[in-house]
Amino acid sequence: MMKPAVHKTVADLRLAAAGWRKAGERVALVPTMGALHAGHISLVRLARQLARRVVVSIFVNPTQFAPNEDFSKYPRVFERDLELLASAGADAVFHPEPAEMYPAGFCTGVSLAGPAAVGLEDKFRPTHFQGVATIVAKLLLQALPDVAIFGQKDYQQLAVIRRMAADLDIPVEIVGAPTLREADGLAMSSRNAYLDARQRKFAGNLHQAMQWAAERIADGEPIDVAVRESAASISASGFLIDYLEARDAATLAPVEPTRRHGLRLLAAARMGTTRLIDNIDIPTKG
Ligand code: AMP
Repeated sequence: MMKPAVHKTVADLRLAAAGWRKAGERVALVPTMGALHAGHISLVRLARQLARRVVVSIFVNPTQFAPNEDFSKYPRVFERDLELLASAGADAVFHPEPAEMYPAGFCTGVSLAGPAAVGLEDKFRPTHFQGVATIVAKLLLQALPDVAIFGQKDYQQLAVIRRMAADLDIPVEIVGAPTLREADGLAMSSRNAYLDARQRKFAGNLHQAMQWAAERIADGEPIDVAVRESAASISASGFLIDYLEARDAATLAPVEPTRRHGLRLLAAARMGTTRLIDNIDIPTKG
């Protein structure tokens, strides 16, 4: 088991990636904020199937956190992450300091609309996707991977990044990977570590109630009715819901309550001070 090379500077990362490209090896990038769990590792394994070389970036990106969010307390466990990535078979880890990504004078960002302005995450975290898109654009231009892997767990983020890569002609294939879950359905997330034992016990109901709503909608129940009842069950488990909505799976635009195809159910809810997000497919039946 080889430990991945750790690159702290853009110059070092570029050198490694350029060497692989010159040798004709495909390169995959998996951007993360660290505190890795099995969901992240599944992205690395998918990356290994899609490319000869895998770079994982670990960078807690300050510009995607609002001042009132968890930037300073976000878990940072780099040595442990490195062990996990060694066993998962990553070739390199890009782990820059904030000043490497945002040197003095930095003032450029990516301006977004479309899936970044549909009233879901963007409504509750108005500066979030600008921070995400800017750092992802930088990472893509730094590593110049053939393929970059993102989780469907962050469904709106995936849509924003697909759109950005297409609109800015960034020469990369964006791949969305399925969400890994705990046994009770809770989507794996670095933020689950914030939940205390009691909160954790009830947290699985977010996914269970979403699954129930998705099945009822697929079976013909009006969307608003199924969503309202599902929301009541989620609230009863101790969550404060930011949103729970069925949207167009491709554009994330709002849909009529009778729509039955191409739907995605998306939610964000807070348990105490921990904010969780999730989303699932609403199957089309008949
Ligand atoms: P993060 O470190 O939270 O920024 O996540 C890094 C990448 O891992 C993003 O593309 C996420 O969508 C993805 N990811 C996070 N949680 C999961 C999960 N439970 N299953 C699959 N991918 C995930």
